[in-house]
Amino acid sequence: MNAYETTLGLFIDGQWHTAGTGVHEVINPASGAVLGSLPLASKGQLDAALDAAARGYPLWRAASTDEKAAVLTGAARLMRERSERIATLATLEQGKPISEARGEVGYAAALIDFYAGEVRRGHGRVLARPAGMRSLVVHEPVGPALALCPWNFPILNPARKLAPALAAGCSMIIKPPEEAPGTAIEVVRCFIDAGLPAPVVSVVFGVPDMVSRHLIASPIIRKISFTGSVPVGKHLMKLAADGMKRTTMELGGHAPVIVMDDCDLEKAITMASAFKFRNAGQVCVSPTRFHVHEAVHDRFLAGMAARAGALQLGPGMDPTTQMGPLANPRRPAAMVGLIEDAVRSGARVAAGGEAQAGDGFFYRPTVLSDVPMAARIMHEEPFGPVALVRAFSRIEDAITEANRLPFGLAAYAFTENARTANILSDALEAGMVGINTMAMSAVDSPFGGVKESGHGSEDGPEGMRAFQVVKAIHQA
Ligand code: NAD
Repeated sequence: MNAYETTLGLFIDGQWHTAGTGVHEVINPASGAVLGSLPLASKGQLDAALDAAARGYPLWRAASTDEKAAVLTGAARLMRERSERIATLATLEQGKPISEARGEVGYAAALIDFYAGEVRRGHGRVLARPAGMRSLVVHEPVGPALALCPWNFPILNPARKLAPALAAGCSMIIKPPEEAPGTAIEVVRCFIDAGLPAPVVSVVFGVPDMVSRHLIASPIIRKISFTGSVPVGKHLMKLAADGMKRTTMELGGHAPVIVMDDCDLEKAITMASAFKFRNAGQVCVSPTRFHVHEAVHDRFLAGMAARAGALQLGPGMDPTTQMGPLANPRRPAAMVGLIEDAVRSGARVAAGGEAQAGDGFFYRPTVLSDVPMAARIMHEEPFGPVALVRAFSRIEDAITEANRLPFGLAAYAFTENARTANILSDALEAGMVGINTMAMSAVDSPFGGVKESGHGSEDGPEGMRAFQVVKAIHQA
């Protein structure tokens, strides 16, 4: 299968709209070719989505746990049945290798299944009181929610927001990325085809600033869940503050990796290179700053450079491709700017360091060493296929350096010493820490950051709590 099989449109109150106020051309990043034309929502269409969310909320909140769980279970089943079609759309729209897209479908389906179970576990607690009295703590749905999703995981991100919101009993308006709309449409279609009542979910696309301002300003929206960059997250929080609305902010990172001299070095190199170049580095938890003990620095650098140099670049639909293009022309441009600046400042290129000539938005897997602290790339999230390797001699300095930036999403360390593992787990300022692993996503575990990487968690029971409010009920 190599076809762009979807109908691009807005889904509002059970109706598909194939026209709006303008269009966005969807581009295949592997070739630059136009895949399709996406309608952009008018304010009138956004108001219709708000009206649907307001009507859908009491309807869905009143649905039984069996009904809610059945829709989620059905959506997960349909997603698995349609895996090849959804994965193909993601690869054509976003560029990642088809094997990665298939894995993303599998994880999204498992997450939806997890929330089908959580529907029955949204319970509260009964407090100890004198005989005849009761105090209860109950969890209620927050109300109609808005999800703003990015393009890097076009299958997972809509599922990761929609499934817990539905499990909690919320209605939702989703604005998936305009860069990968067909993928999100097909993900939402799984929920609709599994029996989700029409007004409960709407899918809109548009000019992001207009859409987010209009929807966040509406008193109907009670919660905003955003995944994207730190500056946009801060901007959206300011808009949300006007209505005192709850937010979940899953923002950028600049993940440090501390490689100790007592680690299993071969394992560290294998894992670091696989996770660094996955999705061409366009992952918020992508390992970026490698602080390597001086005793193993040269071997680690040589290993990373060899793995980077051997990676097969190409269109994601080619089964031999190991790394696809970047998702849009902004990303290679950003890589060129950051890497040229680093090299001018004195960094040495151990692998890659340049865009790949030809069609599409390709940038070669890159490893830089001796990157001076003055280089922009030591401070700004590259969000691309580049590893920065530096040597350290004292663990205290590595920890200070790891915690230096305002980001706090993921942090990693490699060591075979249990005491060192404990010290690093405690010292690293991050929402997620990986010791001898870089797999940060698990359906039952919270995913989110601290510091400027945001607040709130997705996945796990915490992901559903993000769409609930608590109420204390006292009966005397
Ligand atoms: P960007 O900052 O322009 O956009 C990031 C995301 O926010 C996109 O999905 C975009 O559609 C959305 N967005 C932008 N302005 C918005 C607005 N006013 N209202 C609502 N949504 C808005 O950057 P970009 O070039 O698309 O992506 C690169 C940067 O985005 C990276 O540096 C990275 O930090 C961040 N990003 C992070 C994640 C993540 O998983 N945390 C995912 C994708 C992108």
